[in-house]
Amino acid sequence: MSDRCIFCDARDDTILYRGNDGTVILDDPIRTGHLLVGGPRHIAGLHQISETEAGALFSLAQRVSKQIVEQTGASKVYVAAVGDKDPHFHIHLFPKFVVDGNLGPYIFGASGWAGNLAAVDTPDPTSFYALLRSRLAD
Ligand SMILES: [Zn+2]
Repeated sequence: MSDRCIFCDARDDTILYRGNDGTVILDDPIRTGHLLVGGPRHIAGLHQISETEAGALFSLAQRVSKQIVEQTGASKVYVAAVGDKDPHFHIHLFPKFVVDGNLGPYIFGASGWAGNLAAVDTPDPTSFYALLRSRLAD
């Protein structure tokens, strides 16, 4: 596996935009309009970037999404962030057309992504959600 970062070391011909708010690149698009929007710093997780960086990144992603819809005729833009392969936080944007199927069952259904999650110990849900409510209200 290469240590090359798809954002920090992006080739000029894959960069559609680079600014203080982030970088927009092409990386093996699944269809025209599938773009990656990454933050300005080499940080892996959404939980690790600052609120300012997150706001700027999502604002940039929204600007790009508007262009994707306007230029492709898509009904909306899917937003996904997985980050298992590339340790530079980024968002995938790709156009959904009216004729496309519903991705929800693939992502959340037992035969899709959700069905492939490993069994791990997680906190007691009642305690977890109670603590989350409390901390988000602060
Ligand atoms: Zn990077």
